[in-house]
Amino acid sequence: MINKKFGRLTVLKELEEKSNSNKVYLCKCECGNEKAIRGDRLKNGNTRSCGCLQKEAAGRRTVHGASSQWWYNRYSQMVQRCHNPKAHGYENYGAAGVYVCNKWINDPWAFGNWLIAEMDNLGLTEKTINGYHVDKDLLGKGYYGPDSCVLMLAQKNSALSATNRMKKCTLKNIETGETVEFKSFSDAAKFLECSNSTVSKYNGKVYLEWSIN
Ligand SMILES: [Zn+2]
Repeated sequence: MINKKFGRLTVLKELEEKSNSNKVYLCKCECGNEKAIRGDRLKNGNTRSCGCLQKEAAGRRTVHGASSQWWYNRYSQMVQRCHNPKAHGYENYGAAGVYVCNKWINDPWAFGNWLIAEMDNLGLTEKTINGYHVDKDLLGKGYYGPDSCVLMLAQKNSALSATNRMKKCTLKNIETGETVEFKSFSDAAKFLECSNSTVSKYNGKVYLEWSIN
């Protein structure tokens, strides 16, 4: 269980206490909170965050005015493909561990104002922004947020992910020390049964029992 991920929660350690004879684990949430959570609730998917997911969902219903802005479709599609399992493209985003930062989830205007500042930098207007995408990969962070994204032309964006797919990659099993080399991220992704973007996201870091280099 240790280091396993359930939604936003990563298991840190088993606690001494039990709850109705169930094991209890200390978990770290992506939002930074630590919380004790019953193992059965992690395993059956009942608990997937420290409570911040529910708060965010409630917050989303009460943000006014943003939905009539020209940038709202971009915002909404980004949030949907990361956080709604039924949305188009979810398998390559949310299911692959890509998420939108709390600041943007809680406040569409934070995204809108960031986008407009980026457009100013590039000299773009509402009419000339077509073809430009919010890119989360160039800076190597792999999530959507003001410090991890840049606005760039779509062709450049897909060329970048194509080179990423072709990058060589070594997996090391952190328990046994066994290493396996792959000629591309795609091959490593097949081996791990995850997506290319997950390999890209975890590059240099630990993914389940494997570290990806
Ligand atoms: Zn949380």
